Parts: sequence; C-alpha cells; structure tokens
Amino acid sequence: MDKAAPGAPDPKQPAASTAAMALAAAGDAESARDVSALDASAQQAALRLGAKQKSLVERLIYGPLPALEELQSGARAHHAAEPRGAAAVEKAIACMRAGEAFTADGKLSAALRKAVAEEKAYGFTVPAEFGGLGGKYVELALAEEDLAANGLGALAVEISGELTIGAGSLLAYGTDSQKRTFLPLIAEGQLMAFGLTEVGVGVNAKKVRAYVEPDAETGGFRLFADGDRNKLWITNATHGALVGLVARVGKDGKQVGLFVTRLPDRDLTPADGVDYEFSCTPSGVDAFQQNFNARIHCKNLPIPKDGQIQADGVEVLFYCLRMGRCMLASMAAGYQRMFAADAAHYARNREGVGGLVVRHELPRLALGKMLGGALQSRALSHLSLEQDRNGVDLAGLRDLTKSAAAGTALESLTACERVLGGRSFDRTSRVSAARANMHVFGVVEGEDDLILMGMVKDVTGPFTDRYMAGMLSVIQSINEGKDGKPVPPKERILRITPLTVFSQPKKVLQATLGLLGKGSFWMLVLWIVGNLLLEIASLPLRVLPTNWIPRYQLLPIPLRSYARAAEQRLRWLRWAYLGINLWFQLELTRAQMPLQRLGKAIEHLTSIVVLCNHARQQDESQQRVAALQCELLLQKAKALPLLTGLVQMERMRGLVAGVGNDIEKNQSTLLHGLEPHAYAHPFEIAQKKQKRAN
Ligand SMILES: Cc1cc2nc3c(=O)[nH]c(=O)nc-3n(C[C@H](O)[C@H](O)[C@H](O)COP(=O)(O)OP(=O)(O)OC[C@H]3O[C@@H](n4cnc5c(N)ncnc54)[C@H](O)[C@@H]3O)c2cc1C
Repeated sequence: MDKAAPGAPDPKQPAASTAAMALAAAGDAESARDVSALDASAQQAALRLGAKQKSLVERLIYGPLPALEELQSGARAHHAAEPRGAAAVEKAIACMRAGEAFTADGKLSAALRKAVAEEKAYGFTVPAEFGGLGGKYVELALAEEDLAANGLGALAVEISGELTIGAGSLLAYGTDSQKRTFLPLIAEGQLMAFGLTEVGVGVNAKKVRAYVEPDAETGGFRLFADGDRNKLWITNATHGALVGLVARVGKDGKQVGLFVTRLPDRDLTPADGVDYEFSCTPSGVDAFQQNFNARIHCKNLPIPKDGQIQADGVEVLFYCLRMGRCMLASMAAGYQRMFAADAAHYARNREGVGGLVVRHELPRLALGKMLGGALQSRALSHLSLEQDRNGVDLAGLRDLTKSAAAGTALESLTACERVLGGRSFDRTSRVSAARANMHVFGVVEGEDDLILMGMVKDVTGPFTDRYMAGMLSVIQSINEGKDGKPVPPKERILRITPLTVFSQPKKVLQATLGLLGKGSFWMLVLWIVGNLLLEIASLPLRVLPTNWIPRYQLLPIPLRSYARAAEQRLRWLRWAYLGINLWFQLELTRAQMPLQRLGKAIEHLTSIVVLCNHARQQDESQQRVAALQCELLLQKAKALPLLTGLVQMERMRGLVAGVGNDIEKNQSTLLHGLEPHAYAHPFEIAQKKQKRAN
C-alpha cells in the first residue's frame, strides 16, 4: 500500500501485514493495532523457524501440487518411529489398573508421575545432554495418543504442556545457562507451566498487563501480576513448579518479555517476613480437572537475574504453539479411539430395538465417525510434525490440524453419547470425565474459529500481498480527504459496487484511474488470464477416469476419487478467495463468516487429501474408516457454498448484524428481565463499563 492511514502501524515497520493495513484503511484502527502487534510476533516466530519450503496448504491451493511422497511422509515417520514411549505408557496403565493413578479428589497422583518420570516421559523430547530421552516429536505424539486412548488424557495434557511450551521455549530461546539449569529439572519430572492469559486479557495476547520492574539490589526483576493482572487458567502451575511468565518490561513498557522462575512453595504475604505477595489457587475450571490449573497472584515477586528469556513472550508462544497444536491433535486421536472403544464394547453387548445395537446403521455411523475423527487427527498430526522436521512452513497445516482435531473430538463425544446412551453420563464413566476437555480443546492453543481465519490469512497471504494489496490501497485512498486524513465513517466506502457508480461517481472514477495506474492490478489481470488458460487447458483431463491417472493409482481404490475431488476443489479455492475479495473488498476486514467458511472448506478438503495418503500405508480396516471419513468430509465441504453462496452470505450477515446490534445495545426483548449469572474471575474494565451502563 502506498500510505498507511492514521492509526495504522508505522509503515517503516516491516511487520505491518496487509491484513493490518486493510483494517486501518477500513477505519478500524483498534483492530489494526492489535492485529499488527500479533502479526509482528507471529512473523518473528516464523523467521526463527526459518522454513525452507512454502506451506503445503498454500501449494495445494496455488500450486505446485505437493508430491505424494511428501503427503505420505507423516505415515512413514509413524511407521519408522521407535516405541520410545511404550515403557512410560505401560507403567502409567499399570498404575491406573492398580488404582494408584489418581488421588482421592481425582487429580493425577504423585505415584503416577513418579512411575512415568522414571521412564523419562517428562523429558521425552529433551536432548540427552540435558538428561532427557532425546525422542522425536512423532514418537511423543504416539505416546500422547496412547495415554489419551487408555483413559490417561490428563497425563498426556500435562506432559504435552511440559514439553511443547515448557522445554520447547527453553530449547528454542534459552541461553546455554538457562538450558543447563532448567532442562534437567524438567526431564526429571518437575512440572513447568506457561502463563500468558490474565484475568483481564484472553485472546488478545499482546495486551498482557502483568509487568516486571528492575530490582536494583539483585540485578533481577520484581514481578507484578496483581488484581486484573493475575495469571489465569495456567495449566501445570502449582506451588514449587517452574513457570514461564509473560510480562511487560516496565509497567507501561512496549516490550513483552518472558521470565522463567520457580514459584514459591506456598502462598506468602509480608506477614510471613517476605517483601512480596504470592498466591497460587485452583482456577476452578471443570476442564483439565485432573491437572493442576491455577490462578497466580504476585506483587513484587523476585525474579532471578538470569530468568529472562531474550525474546518477545508472544513470539515464543507462537513458536511453541505449532508443537502444542500437533500434540493436541494426537491427544484428540487418542480420546476418540477411547470413545470408540467404549461405545463399540457397549454396542456389541447391548440389545436395542430389534437386536444388538451394533447391528444397526446409525450406531455404526456414529462408531465410524469416532474412528474417522481419530484417524484424521492422527494423520494430520503426524504429517504436520514431519513437515516441521523437514523445514516446511507449517502455516495453515498446524492450524487446520488443531481445528480439525478439536472439532472431530467434540463430534465424536456426541457420537459416543448416541451409542453409549445414558451410561455416557455416569459419574464413573471416563467418557463423562472427558466431556469438558473435549469442549476446551476448541478453546486452548488458539480458539478454533479465530485460528481458521488466521489460517486463511496465512495461506492466501502471498497472493494477497502480490495481487490484492494494490486494490485495497486504492479503496483506502478514496477514503482520505485532501488533507490525507480519513473521511468521517459515514462517508467511508468499503466496497465499490455497481450502485456506487451512481451514488459516488467521482470516487468511483478516482478509484478506477488509481487502479489502472497500479502495477499490481495489471499483475492480477495477468494472473487471472494465465490461470484461466491453465484451467481451460486442463479441461480434457477432467473427463479422464480417476483410475487412469498415475497420481491416484498409487492410492487404495476406495480412496482415489476422494483424493482427486479434494485436490480439484482445493485448486478451485484460489478462485473462491479471489471472488470473495472482489465481492467484499475492504468489507472483508469485518466479514468473518465468509473467511471462517473458507477456512472450514480448506480444513475439510486438506484433511481428505492427508487422510487418503495416510491410509495408503495402513491396513484395510483403517482404509475403510478413512473412506467413510472422506465421504463425510466431502459432504461437509459441499455444504459450504463459497462463490455460489455469496448472496445468501450477505443475507445472513445482515441478519446477524441485526441480532448483534440489538444485543450490543441491550434491546433484545428476549433478554429483558433476565438477571445474568455473574461470570467467574470478574475484571476491572467491564465493571467500570457496567457501572457506566447502570
Ligand atoms: C482449561 C484451560 C486451560 C488453559 N491453560 C492455559 C495455560 O496453560 N496458559 C495460558 O496462558 N492460558 C491458558 N488458558 C487460557 C486460554 O488460552 C484462553 O481461555 C484463551 O486464550 C481465550 O481467552 P478467554 O477465555 O479469556 O477469551 P476472551 O479473550 O475473553 O474471548 C472470548 C471469546 O471471544 C472471541 N473473540 C475475541 N476477539 C474476537 C474477534 N476479534 N473476532 C471473533 N471472535 C473474537 C474469542 O475467540 C473467544 O471465543 C487455558 C484455558 C482453559 C479454559
């Protein structure tokens, strides 16, 4: 873009993404600032990862088509993996069978932790030089899946957090001394947490308000995470545990740091003879019930000098999230296998109307969904891990892997409830115990819909930057007055439609002339013509039977047509994205529903491609599961009209806006007279707003 609008990020900053600039141009300065800050951290993390190859999802849409070898690399890595986690999993199961895995109040027991720590489960991916097992991530993924599949999902959650973001942040960003200090402790089984979320700050991670001040006496820092700044819902956080805490450097500092420290062994106040306050109390969530999950309060808490990780805390989060998302997918695979095992056992034993439940088609479909979701999650997780190991940019794949895994896990829970019936709600049932976790999987490690929209932005980013930015800057320019300042919101044009020619002819002429003078506009024209010609040239290939095409001959027969259909549809999405951009223009900065819908289509179609290639290397029973899951996914993808659904989408957006505005202004009479239940962990800003509203 030529110029950034006021309120936009500094144009000299290379981190300013087209998305952030588009938001600024649309007059949404607040979102522009937030998105720009988050994008900058994500870009830094991507630079650190230094991917050598373009994202697989981007290539599936924009070409060149990835080779089968690459698509099957996850399954190969799975087969080549050593059973490094087997001993720990066996010990954990033995502990559970002996009734020693959980404490009386349903938490993971010290005996269980000790048993698996002896097998170095907590140091699974920590290099041997720091006392770890030196295992591969795909081996960890298999162990995580096995734990979850055997009713030990909570242990999998604990180990995943410990290794992906705990050890992961130290391995990537720690100094030698920090690695030597902390990694052996992690490897021997001391818990490590990562604390970013605060009472006042959730998804908008860059807004954290906890802060450190220098401690002149020790050369270290003092941490203030008091009141609204309390760290909230911190998994693995307990007294005496290690923790990486994200905090601003200086109360109003711009820099967001990361500080590793050990939490005090008990709650302390100045009455205990210390010059600080500290408390670590259970956060009271129903999910991750068997784990430690805490709210942390600190005021003037000393942080040692060498506790600072030399990086932006949110960048470290983004860097480590990719592994967290893969592990979540493996756990989701395990949970879904567990649901299927329990539901299958019941269905094989229970007489329903007209014979055993398992003989009827609908329970069979439900069982197929559970197994299909498990296989899909596993296939995506293993391919993502292998892509990461091979230096392929994980943008897109890591996000849809997580969203697909969390989504199928929730669907499988429902499917399991349909087969297992009332018993799935029994207080002693492990299905019931897993219920809240399946819901929270969609929220932690990035909320699913938000990460799907981020995924669309990432995989279409290079196309947008190259071909669409010019168009966006032209629309931006017509929203500026002669003084270069944005025109009032009412006069702002976010999209040019045929009607705008009549209502604002001057502005349309200005925009058209501006567009014709843009090099990127002509590049877009060339792109459209070139790609159209390619489509026309490939038309004869469309009528070829799938079985004649060498690419698909290598796949099992029942899967070939699914792989072909999904690849064709993914290629088609380049047109869908272009169409959505031309239709919504700058309005796309607000139009979340079409972007989420596009993201879902990418998720379903990529999952089909990955599943078909994964299943090629599995036995026939898994190939049958894969074929059913592909059919279900294809039906879902077909039910998401993109270009053909634009008019319907406009209608729906209008309806959503109507209901949303009523709710925002508290004018929805269905809500009138209802006293809302106070939410947990109230925060300052809302209280002030509420007072103003009253
Ligand atoms: C069991 C559990 C364990 C957790 N473990 C940890 C941990 O170990 N460490 C840690 O730091 N955090 C942890 N979290 C926090 C978790 O990551 C957050 O819950 C999450 O980041 C969302 O924050 P929030 O719940 O405050 O939602 P909010 O930020 O209040 O958001 C509310 C909703 O609004 C949506 N939303 C916000 N902005 C937009 C937008 N622009 N467009 C569309 N939708 C929007 C969000 O997606 C969300 O659904 C945990 C949470 C739970 C429940």
